[in-house]
Amino acid sequence: SEFNGNVSSCSPAVWTSLFQSCHKEFLFQPTGPRVTYIPPTLPEDEDSIFAHYETGINFDKYDDILVDVSGANPPQAIMTFDEAGLCESLRKTVSKSGYVKPTPVQKHGIPIISAGRDLMACAQTGSGKTAAFLLPILQQLMADGVAASSFSELQEPEAVIVAPTRELINQIYLEARKFAFGTCVRPVVVYGGVSTGHQIREISRGCNVLCGTPGRLLDVIGRGKVGLSKVRYFVLDEADRMLDMGFEPDMRRLVGSPGMPSKENRQTLMFSATYPEDIQRMAADFLKTDYLFLAVGVVGGACSDVEQTFVQVTKFSKREQLLDLLKTTGMERTMVFVETKRQADFIATYLCQEKVPTTSIHGDREQREREQALADFRSGKCPVLVATSVAARGLDIPDVQHVVNFDLPNNIDEYVHRIGRTGRCGNTGRAVSFFDPDSDDQLARSLVTILSKAQQEVPSWLEDSAFSGPGSMGVAPRKTFASSDSRKGPQGGSVQDDSVQSQSAAQTAHDEEEWD
Ligand code: AMP
Repeated sequence: SEFNGNVSSCSPAVWTSLFQSCHKEFLFQPTGPRVTYIPPTLPEDEDSIFAHYETGINFDKYDDILVDVSGANPPQAIMTFDEAGLCESLRKTVSKSGYVKPTPVQKHGIPIISAGRDLMACAQTGSGKTAAFLLPILQQLMADGVAASSFSELQEPEAVIVAPTRELINQIYLEARKFAFGTCVRPVVVYGGVSTGHQIREISRGCNVLCGTPGRLLDVIGRGKVGLSKVRYFVLDEADRMLDMGFEPDMRRLVGSPGMPSKENRQTLMFSATYPEDIQRMAADFLKTDYLFLAVGVVGGACSDVEQTFVQVTKFSKREQLLDLLKTTGMERTMVFVETKRQADFIATYLCQEKVPTTSIHGDREQREREQALADFRSGKCPVLVATSVAARGLDIPDVQHVVNFDLPNNIDEYVHRIGRTGRCGNTGRAVSFFDPDSDDQLARSLVTILSKAQQEVPSWLEDSAFSGPGSMGVAPRKTFASSDSRKGPQGGSVQDDSVQSQSAAQTAHDEEEWD
């Protein structure tokens, strides 16, 4: 309002805000090299589309996990995929995917979504959340019929799915493509680091389910290539991450974009393994008031199929200890998490020099390099992947045997997600974390809580550090299972003793990684 139309005479403050708002409206294109990368064409044969790994020995134990659904009038859970009311083509794709029976988040999530209810679902890492939302959405789109895919400059998807990282949204897209195989529903994916023109061409060929990272999604909407007025489903995967300080403004812009139906007129579905209570409260802004909260197991809890161990280290001994660990425990597919991009390059180079075939993934690598790194890790060409938090959430890579926290993260949610890259779908896995008392003390109490909730041994030195260190005040870890729907009040406490800190930590990670 202060702008008088004369750029040369306006104050620096006005100029800055003018610049920022113009930038937001895409009047100024960001400078820097134009992204021209086009990912390789995906194989179209059924064997590649339906390739999957086997469920593990603990898959049936999922049935024993405590489930709590809170909110009014939840629908009855299903026990089998037959009860899910899927059409013939979806039944076929489910069976070709090797799914014999639903996991708990699917048993409860599928009927809730099919009944048209909004949902905030919390289930442990690797327990089938993606199919829990994709199957009922695809089923409903098939039942109601969608516009046949045809070329148009403007496409209007019926479902929009968002996730925080390029690799994760691509994985969700591949799952959607798999389940929708042979049907009239066409999923498309958009994410940063890839040629926008290429993605717009893909959209214009038809788009019923649009999967995207927030930045690129807002970009294609801003360019008028995607209209939101037909959106019936809005899905936030890794929802707590999508609503933390890093992404919240983008999510608000998305739901406030022209044409986007109000929350009363769309179904909003949120999935994650962790839900700090402050984020849950904020999430309510996006959901209808009668949303259901589904908790499978302990909210924010670690997957109990992952054996967690801790090694006390000093800052300068870590590198050699990592090498020893890899040499003694074997180098079957191992993910090594570090805190910074520079550290990722440094450790990957060190391991390569020590003849350990290693690759790395982080936000400073080109998208082509990130995809190549994941491909080399998946294929086993490089059995060790050094990663920053950009690879902590959601990635479903077969046979990851081992996660090493070379640097512990600075918030407990991140720890839960990182170790969840192993021990997926009923398989067992191992996580070893280097604990440096000089820098990791603040995480000790949350780690003790996580370990005891996952019925794992707590090293006495870790307990000492948790309950004798500064700020601990001798508080004992909470040991009982608690449903953690924040609407139930503080007694529903989750395991995030340091959840207050988790937002700022997530913000740091966001700045660090350039997520989109
Ligand atoms: P998600 O948690 O969605 O990443 O799924 C973890 C892994 O479990 C993926 O490889 C899925 O394909 C697989 N999966 C999900 N649901 C089932 C099921 N009902 N039966 C067998 N495998 C499943």
